[in-house]
Amino acid sequence: MTCHPVTLAIHGGAGAIARDGPAREAARHADLAAALRAGHAVLAGAGAAVDAVVAAVTALEDSPLFNAGRGAVFTQAGTHELDAAVMDGATGRAGAVAGVTNLKNPVSAALLVMRNSPCVMLCGRGAERFAAEHGAEIADPAYFFTDERYAQFERARKRRRIELDHDGAARGPGNDAEDGTVYGTVGAVALDRAGNLAAATSTGGLTNKRVGRIGDSPIIGAGTYADNASVAVSATGVGEVFIRAVVAHDIAALVRYRSVSAQQAAEEVILRKIPAAGGRGGAIVLDRSGNLAMVFNTEGMCRGAIRADGNPEVAI
Ligand code: ASP
Repeated sequence: MTCHPVTLAIHGGAGAIARDGPAREAARHADLAAALRAGHAVLAGAGAAVDAVVAAVTALEDSPLFNAGRGAVFTQAGTHELDAAVMDGATGRAGAVAGVTNLKNPVSAALLVMRNSPCVMLCGRGAERFAAEHGAEIADPAYFFTDERYAQFERARKRRRIELDHDGAARGPGNDAEDGTVYGTVGAVALDRAGNLAAATSTGGLTNKRVGRIGDSPIIGAGTYADNASVAVSATGVGEVFIRAVVAHDIAALVRYRSVSAQQAAEEVILRKIPAAGGRGGAIVLDRSGNLAMVFNTEGMCRGAIRADGNPEVAI
């Protein structure tokens, strides 16, 4: 262990953690480590925290093992609707897309919204058109399809349930490699050399969700928030409760106005407020000194962190 401050942290969703076979587990660890390295490369090159979180989340969107980009969960209609957001703690600027169906990397589209429009959030067709006009990579809807997610969708549909990704995976028959266990919503928080914070989150939402449903991930202050005066936060969990509890901003507000640590603020919201409101999930929280909190009230949360020395640390 080193005592260098954390410069970048990621999560891959919270929930009931299924035990995969060793091959899948190794692949998942490798993809988390690769995402940490992608973000670290930006920071090591004196890049901005906001570009580092986008780089890390983009890597996780490209992995079929997480519920974002390729490998996202299915809606009730058997389609994919993706949500993502990014926020720059230095400027307070933010961008988000919601309910997009053909953008390969929704988090990059969120960054385009932040940098190239006066808007904070664009949804559906308008978001897709805007992102395409600004050079976003378009993907055929089939690109997002994976057999594991389809099986998970079928199980949820049979049970008539709308599920957190991890839970649906964990409840599958066998909970093993054959079950194709896959992991959740992704997010990142970063601190750059200039001392600026940023956060980003990307998701396919809940398995078997209603068409048009939007969760907390793309909502600034709910699933994603960053402010140099406090912390950067990316959350994961049952979005409806996280929206009502304004989770990410609540954590930041505790740090800012009550001067509590990132850890204490995350525990207050994730371990007390959210369960009391009937919600489940977790959050990663990073302050300007590189203190990191990774708190969840579920069985597990895929997560990882990297410091200036560039060695990824990954856990579930
Ligand atoms: N928060 C996401 C949503 O409700 C789901 C998740 O974190 O897995 O859309």
